[in-house]
Amino acid sequence: MVTALDNALLAEVLQQVRPLIGSGKVADYIPALAEVPADRLGIAVCTVDGALYQAGDAAERFSIQSISKVLSLTLALTRYQESEIWQRVGKEPSGLPFNSLLQLEMEQGKPRNPFINPGALVVCDMLQTRLSAPKQRMLEVVRQLAGEDDLAYDARVARSEFEHSDRNAAIAYLMKSFGNFENDVLTVLHTYFHYCALRMSSIELARSFVYLANNGRDLQGNAVISPLQARQINALMMTSGMYDGAGEFAYRVGMPGKSGVGGGIVAIVPDEMAIVVWSPELDASGNSLAGTAALELLSQRIGRSIF
Ligand code: GLN
Repeated sequence: MVTALDNALLAEVLQQVRPLIGSGKVADYIPALAEVPADRLGIAVCTVDGALYQAGDAAERFSIQSISKVLSLTLALTRYQESEIWQRVGKEPSGLPFNSLLQLEMEQGKPRNPFINPGALVVCDMLQTRLSAPKQRMLEVVRQLAGEDDLAYDARVARSEFEHSDRNAAIAYLMKSFGNFENDVLTVLHTYFHYCALRMSSIELARSFVYLANNGRDLQGNAVISPLQARQINALMMTSGMYDGAGEFAYRVGMPGKSGVGGGIVAIVPDEMAIVVWSPELDASGNSLAGTAALELLSQRIGRSIF
């Protein structure tokens, strides 16, 4: 039976998945992230009409990490011809961890998709070329999307990532060796780590990502990207947004989604709503464990798998 969406349903979903806390693992390869309490659990839904539903720690800000990869692709689509982007990064799922170097070497430095680290680094490299102040521009974008003027980067998380950046630096230098990287690697890493270190709450993320449910239009009705581009980003999220867990997520939740190692997941119900869950412990693919379970349950309760 399909249930109506309201705050009580969201609270019930959280209550049901809460026992899963303890079976995942908080990301600790970025030390500043490991300090986040593992028992945080929040969910927020924003509909295309602007109605907001929430439960748990939905108002607490966290590090959005790879969720920012969708925002940087969105920004790139406003500055580049699509063909310019897709000649440097692919549209296929990788089937490998988000920070793997293996495929990148075999495929001559062209990342499989924009939602794994190599792909996002190429997109950041492109933004570095065309934007005079890429960090400031991203802040303006998210402040506008969320309708919040005080959104900011977490300088401690960005610094912590920089201090442990060997793998991301290796990825960027490998792409440079293949001629698929234009700017200074450290400069682009600096931008990329700041994007990952954006602090936003589930509510702010749900409001921000409505444009993907609303044919490219944000909550104020501004066209961020075209309806076609919104559909294309949703397709890429469906196939690649959860890394090597994309198939499992499609099977269980049935919505385009994008996760981050901060424990957040954004999921889209086209034409209806953006859903955001947050629980810091991750599964083996680096996706929020209780967050995925919450989305699976909610998808079933409101009958909104896209399949
Ligand atoms: N900042 C993280 C990294 O580069 C982002 C990874 C993620 O959220 N999956 O490793």
